[in-house]
Amino acid sequence: MSALCQPVAPALGWRSAEVATRIPNWANRAQHHRYRGLRPGQSRYLPLVAQLLLVEDDPAIRGALIRALTEYGHAVASSPDAMGALRQILEAAPDLVLLDLGLPDLEGYEALRMIRAVSAVPVVIITARDDESEIIRALDAGADDYVIKPFGGGQIEARIRAVLRRVSRPGDSRGGPLEVGGLRLDIDAHVATLDGAPLDLSRREFDLLHYLALHAGQVVARRDLLTHVWRMPYGGADKTVDVHISWLRRKLGETAQQPRYIHTVRGVGVKLSAPP
Ligand code: CA
Repeated sequence: MSALCQPVAPALGWRSAEVATRIPNWANRAQHHRYRGLRPGQSRYLPLVAQLLLVEDDPAIRGALIRALTEYGHAVASSPDAMGALRQILEAAPDLVLLDLGLPDLEGYEALRMIRAVSAVPVVIITARDDESEIIRALDAGADDYVIKPFGGGQIEARIRAVLRRVSRPGDSRGGPLEVGGLRLDIDAHVATLDGAPLDLSRREFDLLHYLALHAGQVVARRDLLTHVWRMPYGGADKTVDVHISWLRRKLGETAQQPRYIHTVRGVGVKLSAPP
């Protein structure tokens, strides 16, 4: 609890100039991969230091949480309201969002629905509301976890790690292939088939299809793909994503004009779903 009761620091934007300058080239990620004895490519879906977005209007809680999470090695950006958060989700593609439900500009569940419309980013709700119907409502609206205030820095850090593990490697942990309609991905064997016929995919195409299949039915922003598949910060390189999407489409035997599995949602992103 002590972490949340400390004095307030102004907490808008990135925590420090150092973090802000390190984020664009992902040097901090590489450093943490080294810390775990891994090369950057080895745990591609599991960021060990996360880029977090904290959405919290209470400056005392915001300041204390930023301080605590920064100490755990995370890069923490923050927003005191929902609209600022949405903008940052689109611009910075954070790894995880911590979302307070009581925000000044938008009801929390509304904010969550808007986030879900543009991004598959994991969302952990932080709130003082503790009745079960509230918890169910948040989870149904697309939250990945729910933490009730007050909580200590250690608990929220553990929740963040657990959610990132869960969303990062479901294919690893439960085994079993991913299936979307006639599309089947065996992650361990790195084999993809469509209606039983093997697909000849490059490693990048496989990773891209894997990420889309993990979020089947959801619109995934190009920024999310750049972050999670390419491990690149967003910065106008989304042509790369478009090119790979078009290669993937060709291999699935479809086109942008006549999509079956890969659907472009103009101005938002891409969605993988089974044909009707
Ligand atoms: Ca609040």
